[in-house]
Amino acid sequence: MEHGALGALAGAGDSTRSVHAGRPPATAYEPSLPGPVFVSHYHLPGEATGPYVYGRDDNPTWERLEAAISELEAPGDPEVGTAVFASGMAAVAAVLLSQVKAGQTVLLPSDSYQTTRALRERLESYGVAVRLAPTAGDAQLAALDGVSLVWLETPSNPGLDVCDIRRLADAAHAAGALVAVDNTLATPLGQRPLSLGADFSVASGTKALSGHGDLLLGYVSTRDAGLAASVRFWRKTVGAIPGPMEAWLAHRSIATFALRVDKQSANALALATALLKRPEVMNLRHPALPADPSHEVAARQMRRFGSVVSFTLPDQAHAERFLASLRMTSEATSFGSIQSTAERRARWGGDAVPPGFVRFSVGIEDAEDIVADVLRALDEAAAA
Ligand SMILES: *Cc1c(COP(=O)(O)O)cnc(C)c1O
Repeated sequence: MEHGALGALAGAGDSTRSVHAGRPPATAYEPSLPGPVFVSHYHLPGEATGPYVYGRDDNPTWERLEAAISELEAPGDPEVGTAVFASGMAAVAAVLLSQVKAGQTVLLPSDSYQTTRALRERLESYGVAVRLAPTAGDAQLAALDGVSLVWLETPSNPGLDVCDIRRLADAAHAAGALVAVDNTLATPLGQRPLSLGADFSVASGTKALSGHGDLLLGYVSTRDAGLAASVRFWRKTVGAIPGPMEAWLAHRSIATFALRVDKQSANALALATALLKRPEVMNLRHPALPADPSHEVAARQMRRFGSVVSFTLPDQAHAERFLASLRMTSEATSFGSIQSTAERRARWGGDAVPPGFVRFSVGIEDAEDIVADVLRALDEAAAA
């Protein structure tokens, strides 16, 4: 698969690649990133063959975005292809539902993003057995027997546990299973699952990839042409396609991807470091913290540690007072946006987290402002 003009940028750094990924070669009187192509039917004389047939099958706006994501997931690797989807869940479901058959077994992380686990009932109703094991300590290793597809999510959302992708992928392949990694939290600038042995890297582009909290998007990247074709056929048959406007906005946003992720990662570490000194903050987690249980494996397989910091306050009321006292950080779900957001995760049910558990997504505001706002809100929450 052709990744746009990037052949010329082999070996370029992450910010250079973010700016240029998937953009066509400079052409006189043409924009750097052509606008969204709004189309359902293309003019299609004669035989119904490509490259553009129908708006549910192909769109040049998706193709440019797909080339950009492939270049980020696997720099300079022409074998890697990406399919973009209407949302992260459309991408997750595309892999889980297109790659397994009745009678087979899927291994999911017991602490995955909760909507991924919500597919369990659907899989079981189709005769697929679903097994669960935790992310931490590579516990999925002990559950590989007879499995056809292993789903990894590292770091996990919201618990921020990390597993060793290379170790699990090697063991899964030896057991005859395919391996998919949910790369949403790490982002392709934080971790490259395909180069660590995974068959699929799957992510929500709603989060840090697009990063502005204004669209939903998902994608699946793979090096295997047959797997890529089956995922694309799934997209076509269920119609889980992104709108051209969303695809174009996401591609435009990727130009600042490295800037944003670098700033978010630095800010997240600054916040986590400040929180280390607070006695009411328990079970503080961020993979960049040297004492974090995830740090050793994360430092080996990740290049950036991401925007999410999680911690537990003494109880629900304390966490609610804290969130209400924040002035700069709004209470919202999702993560990876330019704006800091936080939420008490237990308000959704479905995650094994205590009532005072806070998932904090650090934005690109100035670190001093974020830390000052959080420390002040903690003081107010403790005084009440
Ligand atoms: C948000 C999220 C998804 C789903 O993405 P949507 O774009 O909301 O459908 C999948 N996996 C993880 C880890 C997520 O955080």
